[in-house]
Amino acid sequence: MPKIALNMQILLGALCGILLGAGLAMLDRDSSISQNSLYIASLISTLFIDLLKMVLVPLVFTSIVVGVANLRAHQQMNRVWQITLGFFAFTMALAILLGLTVANVFRPGEGLEITMFKDAIQGFEVSQMSLPEFFAHFLHSLFMNPLTALAQGHILAIVVFALLLGIALVVGGERYQNILILMKEFLELILMLVGWIMRLAPLGIMALLLQLIVAQDITLLTTLIKFIAIVIGVTLFHCLVVLPLTLYLMTGMTPVKFWKGAREALITAFATSSSAATMPITLRCVEQHLHVKPDVAGFVIPLGTTMNMDGTALYEAIAALFVANLVGIELDIMQQLIVFLIAMLAAIGAPGIPSAGMVTMVMVLQAVGLPAEAVAILLPVDRLLDAFRTMVNVEGDMIGSLVVQKWIRGA
Ligand code: ASP
Repeated sequence: MPKIALNMQILLGALCGILLGAGLAMLDRDSSISQNSLYIASLISTLFIDLLKMVLVPLVFTSIVVGVANLRAHQQMNRVWQITLGFFAFTMALAILLGLTVANVFRPGEGLEITMFKDAIQGFEVSQMSLPEFFAHFLHSLFMNPLTALAQGHILAIVVFALLLGIALVVGGERYQNILILMKEFLELILMLVGWIMRLAPLGIMALLLQLIVAQDITLLTTLIKFIAIVIGVTLFHCLVVLPLTLYLMTGMTPVKFWKGAREALITAFATSSSAATMPITLRCVEQHLHVKPDVAGFVIPLGTTMNMDGTALYEAIAALFVANLVGIELDIMQQLIVFLIAMLAAIGAPGIPSAGMVTMVMVLQAVGLPAEAVAILLPVDRLLDAFRTMVNVEGDMIGSLVVQKWIRGA
């Protein structure tokens, strides 16, 4: 039998997951076939995600240390920093503007009564975090005992420590050559493990998508259909038009070529709803399929995974306007400007895990005086929307690495 390429296997896995999920959703939830299938699916998907998480921390750490050390050696560090952060801010701003514009035109939430959601809101407790508290928390999470950060998987703190260590390695020069070589070889080994884990990706993705489909509540979906359609529509527009166009204009790479190289990571992001869990695959795709140099990829991808979230930013802006319409508050231009800024902060601060955007959403709502409890209405449909926004988050990181690579070469 001819060997099917992994790319194709992943696509087939995704398709089977969706079809099987749709089939199961029609069956009685309590039937034994349904229960057993869901049990097996949850075993496989947990295994897949656990394996990805297993390699995540050593991968983030070593890829940043090695990436920074190599970049400094080329004396391009400043330019890489500037282009990377500039690109992240630019595309997130585009995403939020797009979200706000469409939400102002289509006004999701208007015509719905907040009382319809009384049950959801009642007894729902939000963990309140005001903007100053969030900022203090964010700052505090940047610096941490590296061993605690590594052991507990605090990605942001790991990123910061690795950046500093990478810089120190270069400043230290020749004397620390052995440590750098050790890091490089460790990174190669971790990437080898990622290659092995990828063989499970078709099955893992099938199991994740099957669960995603079965978990949807049709009644709720139809009630919130306008909001959901707007979020998915705008997210896809950003994914299929805005980002690829930016890529094309900035690097000349065609969208088709990009998607061919990026699809493994995009499908995994969709299925896992976690840019962090997807990172090992994102890194593999940009290096192996899109030919981004490891020093650029090793810097931009881990940083983007924690900071650059176009999908989340866009979602927070639309959701804020949705809640405002729902409770009958008209947000003026100043308030929308506040939504713009806080949505950007909220996206930067949200970790790359499922539904992280929901937690930082509270901050956006509070900043313009909207009821934070409204998050309870959004939560039940979040699994679906999270899949789309995570895919865009990961796409933005990959495009960022291509743009940075092109622009420093062109320097
Ligand atoms: N799940 C998203 C991610 O991992 C974050 C979010 O909830 O918006 O990128």
